[in-house]
Amino acid sequence: MGMRKVYIAYTGGTVGMQPTERGSAPAPGQLGALLASLPQFQAAEMPEITLKEYNPLLDSANMTPADWVTIGEDLKARQEDHDGFMVLHGTDTMAYTASALSFLMEGLEKPVILTGSQIPLCETRSDALENLTTGLLLIERYAHRMSEVCICFGGRLLRGNRASKTDSEGFDAFESPNHPLLGTIGIDFELNWRMLRRPQTSGLPLRVRKLGDASVGACRLYPGMPARTLAAFLDGVSGCVLECYGAGNAPNRDAEFMKVLRDACDSGTVIVAVPQPLRGSAALSLYATGRTLLEAGVVSGFDMTAEAALTKLSYLFACTSDPAEVRHMMQQNLRGELTPLTSEND
Ligand code: ASP
Repeated sequence: MGMRKVYIAYTGGTVGMQPTERGSAPAPGQLGALLASLPQFQAAEMPEITLKEYNPLLDSANMTPADWVTIGEDLKARQEDHDGFMVLHGTDTMAYTASALSFLMEGLEKPVILTGSQIPLCETRSDALENLTTGLLLIERYAHRMSEVCICFGGRLLRGNRASKTDSEGFDAFESPNHPLLGTIGIDFELNWRMLRRPQTSGLPLRVRKLGDASVGACRLYPGMPARTLAAFLDGVSGCVLECYGAGNAPNRDAEFMKVLRDACDSGTVIVAVPQPLRGSAALSLYATGRTLLEAGVVSGFDMTAEAALTKLSYLFACTSDPAEVRHMMQQNLRGELTPLTSEND
């Protein structure tokens, strides 16, 4: 065995699934048995593994914010005796969980690597073996130089809060369109040390922020969306990620629509614009259609993914109930999740 100890939180996902009459579903016990029997996981260069199988194992479509906190708390409880963490997770909402953990785990000094697979580990052509062994070797070799939440998938290492699932069929299912890869894994491990966040050795204890009751949501604009639909959506939410057109545009010829936005902002709802296109930033001052959003009180999420923006909103409402503070912090770079545009204002 290698020198390091890795704690694996196995939450569910395709990686440990089996075919059933009703489609693939998590199969308790199976993944642990495979890890214990496959020679790759017993190799001398591999770290020592502790596997915890969650109960129930979830298809990640069933993950909720409460599960993000449970995972964070679980990792925190194991941090003293482990050098790094792996979270085995379904791919569908992996980018949400990775983003959430990056915010919730304050003072993280160790690597947290999320991975899973498109084909279960028990199947012949599974991509799980590659994803798991690579993630474990990354921790074995570089745990002392990495301290962030990453996704390791399909030969890529990505910043968790910059990643989105962009392919439901290919083995390289994730991209970080607005951020360079943290690593490319082929024959060699090519890590982007300029980008990777290093341990800060701040001396502050790791803390996992509990999420409060604030309700946050995401709403994707579409042509012809009635103002009343937007109003119904915004009713009762403290924060909303508004997925806008292009570089952050909305229908400013629809006075009723804009009034709904303005009234919501005036009453303390935090509305954050992110671009619908995968690549690029919400530059609200670029077009008149974006500028009206700024005037209504909407703030820019710059180049954050919708996943990062949503989980960051949840996190910030767990830190403060002051909408002005949340608006301000949404535009600050907390964990490498955004690149601010200097021309936009608070
Ligand atoms: N539906 C599965 C999940 O997200 C897909 C996967 O794991 O790839 O749990």
